[in-house]
Amino acid sequence: MSSAADTLTATPLGGPTLPQERRLVTSIPGPRSQELLDRKADAVAAGVGHTVPVQAVAAGGGVVVDADGNSLIDLGSGIAVTTIGNAHPKVVKAVQEQVAQFTHTCFMISPYDSYVTVAEALNRITPGDHAKKSALFNSGAEAVENAVKIARKYTGKQAVVAFDHGYHGRTNLTMALTAKAMPYKSGFGPFASEIYRAPLSYPYRDGLDGGLAAKRAISMIEKQVGADNLAAVIIEPIQGEGGFIVPADGFLPAIVEWCRANGVVFIADEIQTGFARTGRMFASEVFGIVPDLITTAKGIAGGLPLAAVTGRAEIMDASHSGGLGGTYGGNPIACAAAVAAIDVFENDGMVERAREIEEILKGRLQQLQSADPRIGDVRGHGAMIAAEFVDPATGEPDAALTAAVAKASIAQGVIVLTCGTYGNVIRFLPPLSITDDLLHEGLDVIAAALADN
Ligand SMILES: *Cc1c(COP(=O)(O)O)cnc(C)c1O
Repeated sequence: MSSAADTLTATPLGGPTLPQERRLVTSIPGPRSQELLDRKADAVAAGVGHTVPVQAVAAGGGVVVDADGNSLIDLGSGIAVTTIGNAHPKVVKAVQEQVAQFTHTCFMISPYDSYVTVAEALNRITPGDHAKKSALFNSGAEAVENAVKIARKYTGKQAVVAFDHGYHGRTNLTMALTAKAMPYKSGFGPFASEIYRAPLSYPYRDGLDGGLAAKRAISMIEKQVGADNLAAVIIEPIQGEGGFIVPADGFLPAIVEWCRANGVVFIADEIQTGFARTGRMFASEVFGIVPDLITTAKGIAGGLPLAAVTGRAEIMDASHSGGLGGTYGGNPIACAAAVAAIDVFENDGMVERAREIEEILKGRLQQLQSADPRIGDVRGHGAMIAAEFVDPATGEPDAALTAAVAKASIAQGVIVLTCGTYGNVIRFLPPLSITDDLLHEGLDVIAAALADN
């Protein structure tokens, strides 16, 4: 069967010359990797952790190669960043050309074409056909901070509602928006004020349909915050770090409708879900919602640091000139990369490829689940799929099993990431450039790790 990935790996498009194979020539970590990890321990702050104990030296297609010559199957994409494939040739070319032209002027000093082109593209491809504008930043957290600034300025109100299990970043305001204390918040307070938390729809655990879950959240918001004080509601359409939680049908549309009726800005944080990841260009489309503002980052520029807020022109224009920006926001090299990456997302079959990957991942994981009741739930969309591990007797989260399976898989040369408030979710975020064979092999390794634990 020919698929978008075959095209990607058979041609220079997304086709790094790295052999697309799992290859272990040492144990993980090998001696060279260990040397770097020792230097890291001496030189880098302890708070900056790592999941996979290797020294990366090259990556592309569906593999990451380490300094000892091991080739690991990549099921994480550097946390949903290298969605089109690492070092994608179109991105490499765009970056090389731009870096030789100029590296920085500061867009707020002298503007350049690529920033405006990225803004035009985002205004075109994000959900809704209303007039839109965009502003560019460096990181996801910075985009979220700016979305909140914009919503407050537009509404003249201050309160912001985020949800249980939500993740929005590690800066002060975004720590306040993020739900999970350990490791993201513990000891780092005091946090920003006027942030309130509402209950989410988590069908596997709350058993509520979308309408009832929305009613519960709206009732809490009305009673404990009040629409008159509320500038914005921010939510990931499918939660990332919180456990790839897909809300029940009807939940998000009801929240959006309530926001519209009450003069509250609805912000979709699509930093993890954006850019073809969910088998749609944006996850909002999965639920048929049109956000007022949308934050993007991660997949946007093929691995370069870039982020954006895009939304209704009248909201985006609420800030006075000079109120938004930053020295590096919309750096020309990152913007050149984004122009190339968005071209790949739109024109090289990425949305279709994410749907093919969904079929493989869900098929294999559901098969595993039917034979192993420790897999309590398999969920997600596109190339953003999760398995939640539980104690079959009680339904309680099993974080120890999850960690053991992830660790054993990494030792066998497969990069897997965990997530979830209870640490009991393995998340699958493969690059869309991975081959079917490599994806199956990665799943074989995980299945064997599960059987052994
Ligand atoms: C990763 C992430 C962020 C933060 O992005 P950074 O670039 O790490 O600051 C915010 N929101 C969501 C949904 C994310 O997944």
